[in-house]
Amino acid sequence: MKTLGIYVQVPFCQTKCTYCNFHTGVVSTARFAPYVEAVCREIREHKAFYSTAGVTLPKELGAAVVDTVYIGGGTPSLLEPPHLQNILDTIRKSFAADFAEVTLEADPETIEAEKGNAWVQTGINRVSFGVQSFSDKELVAAGRMHRRADIYRAVPILREAGIRNISFDLIAGLPHQTRESWRQSLDELTALKPEHASIYLLEVDEGSRLGKELLQGGGRYSAGAVPSEDEMAEFYEMALETLRAAGYRHYEISNWAKPGFESKHNLKYWRREAYLGFGAGAHSFSGAQRWANVHDAAAYVSAVQSGRLPVEQHEKMTAERALEEELFLGLRQLDGIDVARIEREYGVSLAGRFEPLASAGLVKRDGNVVRLAPGRLSVSNEVFVELMK
Ligand code: SF4
Repeated sequence: MKTLGIYVQVPFCQTKCTYCNFHTGVVSTARFAPYVEAVCREIREHKAFYSTAGVTLPKELGAAVVDTVYIGGGTPSLLEPPHLQNILDTIRKSFAADFAEVTLEADPETIEAEKGNAWVQTGINRVSFGVQSFSDKELVAAGRMHRRADIYRAVPILREAGIRNISFDLIAGLPHQTRESWRQSLDELTALKPEHASIYLLEVDEGSRLGKELLQGGGRYSAGAVPSEDEMAEFYEMALETLRAAGYRHYEISNWAKPGFESKHNLKYWRREAYLGFGAGAHSFSGAQRWANVHDAAAYVSAVQSGRLPVEQHEKMTAERALEEELFLGLRQLDGIDVARIEREYGVSLAGRFEPLASAGLVKRDGNVVRLAPGRLSVSNEVFVELMK
């Protein structure tokens, strides 16, 4: 049975975190309903929209069963439960659906008992929390809306509502983070026993206020209190050790899970399985094509209202591009790359690519499997650059 993932993007937040490089905005709640209506129309009429936008869905996807849905953002937990119900019901009516995993991204301060119960009624069975840190000093400096106490308030609400699959995100490298405060965050995370954890390193780029400030050598947004790269690498190593000791399996560079709780939806991205994205800025992959909707939420809504799919990027897969993705995404997974399968499917020899990396100690070959070398996970980007040369 061919399966399909669906991603729904909700690009609204209550504030803009200093480190955030996503296309999200702070808007009046009056804009939520028209946005949800546009998303539902895009879902309902996706076939007609795709054919006018030059997107072809492979035949086998027409009969595919939607088994995972991921509602991300932004802060989708800001939407009212009837909005979420509407989105999920529209998916159920527009596709063959048998949901195994329905994830909602949520920020701790947005959780209330009534909402938690309503989410479970809609079919949401996994909540991914933007915890980021258990230190109020770090949360304040990062411009987050929640505080440590909100995390402790929110988790029991979700457990009581019946959510049996919770994921926490933490960020290594926030301003004011120290070895001690990071140890504290890791220990508090494991004590709360989420089924899944994602640990990200602070991204420094032009896309966020903090990133820009760091690149320009300024001191705003507590830029002067950002840990060094070496410290961040050490924090990542601490996470590896702490999560391993607490019984989590490290299955992707940034992701850990208790046995059986790996994110079914996100695995589709890393395994190059098909998913359709709906909403402003949402990305889709059919196996043969990748495309993405326009990021601007207002432009998205007005295009959908006028019956047009607002595609902003569109790429047809070439064999060369697909091979690059296989290598890049395969190395992100701790299970590594099945070299024999790729050589067979793409008619290439990979020995020339991997031998220099193995000699440099960046990857390890074990029979037919190539993985990032232990100790090189925190510098994976450097390995990817070498690999694509
Ligand atoms: S809540 Fe998340 S998406 Fe929204 S601004 Fe903060 S980091 Fe960005």
